[in-house]
Amino acid sequence: SAKSNGRGSYAFYERAMLEAAEDHRLLENDVRHALKNKDMKLAYQPIVDGETGELVGREALLRWHHPTRGDIAPDRFIPIIEDAGLIHQIGDWVIREACEEAQRWDEKVPVAVNISAAQLTGAGLAKTVVNALAVSGLHPNRLELEVTESVFLGDDPETLSSIERLRGLGVRMVLDDFGKGYSSFGYLGRAHFSKIKIDKSFVRGAAGGDQQCVAIVNAILALADGLGIETTAEGVETEAQADIMRDLGVGSLQGFLFGQPTFLGENVVNIGDHRRDIVA
Ligand code: C2E
Ligand code: MG
Ligand code: MG
Ligand code: MG
Repeated sequence: SAKSNGRGSYAFYERAMLEAAEDHRLLENDVRHALKNKDMKLAYQPIVDGETGELVGREALLRWHHPTRGDIAPDRFIPIIEDAGLIHQIGDWVIREACEEAQRWDEKVPVAVNISAAQLTGAGLAKTVVNALAVSGLHPNRLELEVTESVFLGDDPETLSSIERLRGLGVRMVLDDFGKGYSSFGYLGRAHFSKIKIDKSFVRGAAGGDQQCVAIVNAILALADGLGIETTAEGVETEAQADIMRDLGVGSLQGFLFGQPTFLGENVVNIGDHRRDIVA
């Protein structure tokens, strides 16, 4: 019976694989129409100063509301966008849109935009950034480009020169999800980052009493301090997590405790109100 189970689960696995591939193909088709139909939008999540609770920035997070399937998470649709060869087109839209949105804010804080490794190949991204800054009038130091360490995995010299070219435009480069996966302090010497975002797994671990997590956060902070790099803790959901990150000396905090990713417009004021609630 173990054998027949094995065959049965193999057939099930094979069917699941085929269905996943078919699903991917269907979504790939839909993704081509998503921007035009305004089914994709940016939500913005506040980042606050660890000490004062003051708003210090907002991260733009792409949202896709599929007409029949409803909301699809970025971790699922970004790879589909990449496979469809649309990451440059959609990524460019994200940058232009975020710059124009940030220029409308009362608070002159930076907007953070996520960049895929695929966007760093070729000179196209620098052109897009130059253009987006010119059209919006946003000062370059108010644009942050967040990359994860996965951009270094291919060990592609083009990636490093792309990062340096962007930095040369005066925008701030941010190393996202630091500590997750293959993180190496070596990456920090390879390119010049303005900020490191400490992955939420360390926030959870440190607040849960995991002394290894505390030690790693301390090491990251010492290094960042020595290199003159700012730090943000990601995924802060509880007061206990905020307290320990503050006590360890993390510069700024981001997470559901301070605000969900929100579609802006009339909501900008509400986020400010929320911030005062947290501080009080
Ligand atoms: P990320 O850049 O690390 O963004 C932070 C993620 O953590 C977001 O997930 C956000 O909604 C979530 N988050 C924020 N606060 C909390 C919290 O307190 N608890 C928990 N559990 N999660 C929290 P989201 O929006 O699902 O995005 C996932 C990833 O997709 C992002 O991770 C980023 O790597 C990627 N992504 C999102 N938008 C874009 C985009 O426009 N372009 C590219 N290339 N990637 C994007
Ligand atoms: Mg990010
Ligand atoms: Mg992150
Ligand atoms: Mg991420």
